[in-house]
Amino acid sequence: MGLRVYNTLKRKKEDFKPIDGKKVKMFVCGPTVYDLSHLGHARTYVAYDVIARWLRYRGYDLFYLMNITDIDDKIIKRANEKRMDPLDLAKELEESFFKDMKSLGINSISFYARASDHISEIIDQIRRLLEKGFAYSVETGIYFDVSKFEDYGKLSHQNPEELKKHRIEPDPHKRTIQDFSLWKRRREREPSWGSPWGEGRPGWHIEDTAIAEKYLGQQYDIHGGGIDLVFPHHEAEIAQMESISGKKPMVKYWLHTGFLKVKGRKMAKSLGNFIMIQDALNNHDAETLRLFFSSTHYRSPIDFYEKRLKQTINSLESLDATLDKVRRVKKRSTRFTEEEDDLERRIEKSKKEFEEAMDDDFNTPLALTHLYGLATDVNKLLNKQRSINDRLADRLVSTFKELGGVLGILQKEEKEEELPEKLIMLIDERERARIKKDWRTADEIRKRLKGFGIILEDTEEGVRWKKK
Ligand code: AMP
Repeated sequence: MGLRVYNTLKRKKEDFKPIDGKKVKMFVCGPTVYDLSHLGHARTYVAYDVIARWLRYRGYDLFYLMNITDIDDKIIKRANEKRMDPLDLAKELEESFFKDMKSLGINSISFYARASDHISEIIDQIRRLLEKGFAYSVETGIYFDVSKFEDYGKLSHQNPEELKKHRIEPDPHKRTIQDFSLWKRRREREPSWGSPWGEGRPGWHIEDTAIAEKYLGQQYDIHGGGIDLVFPHHEAEIAQMESISGKKPMVKYWLHTGFLKVKGRKMAKSLGNFIMIQDALNNHDAETLRLFFSSTHYRSPIDFYEKRLKQTINSLESLDATLDKVRRVKKRSTRFTEEEDDLERRIEKSKKEFEEAMDDDFNTPLALTHLYGLATDVNKLLNKQRSINDRLADRLVSTFKELGGVLGILQKEEKEEELPEKLIMLIDERERARIKKDWRTADEIRKRLKGFGIILEDTEEGVRWKKK
């Protein structure tokens, strides 16, 4: 069985079959850069990073596009409070976002596209919507006429009656309350651009479809974001793009992540229950945070609390310790023991189980249980044997690194043990004595070091030390 993904549009898991063979085009909604990013954002972006890594692991040629919303009401409001230019504020926060992504090891995105760099593409989409009669112009701006798009509500599975209950963008000039903004006419202290309809700025939803059409075309494979984006944002994107192109579906697979929550409520700036990514990274390394997120399926909510994070720290430490033990145990090149034969088969089995779990809608928690299971078996063997076959050891290290790499864990290189400065100076002093053939001093220092539990070995390449 190949890869299967849960599609919000169909509300079920489907076989993953890209539009164009092994090529996959994916768009994930990026941040609105009005503040620093918190762990809720990290949850979503780590999830898509793992999804992207898995697609590439499975041999897909993935182009992963992320937009940056740098024109938005929230940015303008924050910039006005700070007496800053909104685009300057957005630029500053975009830099922090990139830094956060890098620190979290999120390296799968092929291209970032800023809304403010795509104004002409946005204007062109609005023009086509007006021409085709899907949009109308009023005193305050241009709106999409939801009544013209039959499928409105198909992603969020809402009927027209349910849709009427949402109050989006209150404006008495709109024809119906569900209509959403494509272009807002210039208001004081707001950034604006010239257009055939006068000075103004784009609405949020059209920024994304204009960017996606430019780089991915009118139809593509995957669109992702957090679950809160299903309505109205993604619903509006479908309405815009499918009205322009007349082609359905705009996106084959819609993926949505569950929330990171604190005491049952979404982690959000507006609720004041957030932890900034930068603060979290001061206390925990990125691999711990990534393992924390991957221990829950991407569609399920995660409750964030310290005890849970501590459990993650322990789990990661024990996986790292197993990997370290394999690296340090004495190697031999003689035949495999019976137990080693068993373990070699176990590696194959665990890898296959890990792959099957990931192929089942990116089931990271299940994939992890197979990694933990393998580690337990490795530990059992290392408790029994003082040495292992060198090929088996290499195989173990590469398997842990390869599978861990999909989740962004177990990538630390072998730890170099460090000696206290005082002991290093003693070793150097003994070297100098040895070079001068002052054997008495050299022996005396060797004895002192032994007292500290350090054994010296004189080799052709110089002196080596090890712990007693
Ligand atoms: P925003 O910058 O608020 O537009 O959010 C950017 C992305 O982060 C969107 O895909 C949101 O759905 C997602 N997001 C925001 N808060 C959370 C949260 N608490 N848990 C999971 N994803 C979130």
